[in-house]
Amino acid sequence: MQKTSQNRTHFKMPELPEVEVCRLGITPHIAGQKVADVVVRNAKLRWPIPDEVHSVVGKTLEKIERRSKYLLLRFANGTLLLHLGMSGSVRILAQDTPDIKHDHFEMLFDNGKMLRLNDPRRFGAVLWFPEHHDLQGLLTKLGPEPLTDDFTYGHLFAKAGNRKVPIKTFLMDNHVVVGVGNIYANEALFIASIHPATLVNSVSEEKFNELTDIIKTVLAAAIEQGGTTLKDFTQADGKPGYFAQKLFVYGRAGEKCDGCQTVLEEIRQSNRSSVFCPQCQVMPKPQPQRETVAKKAVVKKLKDKKLKAKKPKDKKAAIQTIKNS
Ligand SMILES: [Zn+2]
Repeated sequence: MQKTSQNRTHFKMPELPEVEVCRLGITPHIAGQKVADVVVRNAKLRWPIPDEVHSVVGKTLEKIERRSKYLLLRFANGTLLLHLGMSGSVRILAQDTPDIKHDHFEMLFDNGKMLRLNDPRRFGAVLWFPEHHDLQGLLTKLGPEPLTDDFTYGHLFAKAGNRKVPIKTFLMDNHVVVGVGNIYANEALFIASIHPATLVNSVSEEKFNELTDIIKTVLAAAIEQGGTTLKDFTQADGKPGYFAQKLFVYGRAGEKCDGCQTVLEEIRQSNRSSVFCPQCQVMPKPQPQRETVAKKAVVKKLKDKKLKAKKPKDKKAAIQTIKNS
């Protein structure tokens, strides 16, 4: 990761917008094309690249889909799953383009083009799931896609329930929602004026509503911005899909808040950096748990009922009340 805070731009590990931009960038070049060959230069990625990836040779790449940060290359006989890990990037090149350091995997197509994966840190993955494999079962454990209608504030609020989890950790949990990585979690919480350590059981339904809209907006804006870099996918140098963008808080600890000029602070949460403005993102005072609030309401109702019962309207009722007590 490279920090370039002076010009307020940042290059970082691929998150959902980068992966989606990648999908958009490579699809027009290779979708609908037949695979002529597969070359594994170095199988030692996060998991070894299995020999079965060669079963796509002679098959047509039907489409490229994305689920969370996984690129799913669909073939009639199965799915080739591609993950960019921490430093992976793919390019579309002519097949005679000389390989460079960290080029680990390539797929050659009938139209003379080649998909090549470069990954210096080798945390990426290339895996093969044959047709009969329940890939869906593997991926349905994931939470909803943030840019679909399945991701609602109601979903977040229900998932939060009475959990005492910091909101930032919660948002980055793939079982809650996929694809909200460290950068966009930091940014969304700043825009929503929520301190990253706020426990989810103290976030109101209204606030979740606001936050949900902000997450969608932030991610969609990043994808749109990345759209300007689509041509980079066919260039041999650089890191396609790693577009620079203006960030409010991520990578800016010690610098001034755009809103109020207070110095931004940094804390560690789940071993990840959280940067926030102590003025704009105030930690709420400890709130009674939702359960307790509900309990109090019930107790109050019962009390009111008792009080009413103690104020009988007529003598007969008064006698009845005394008899009953
Ligand atoms: Zn501020």
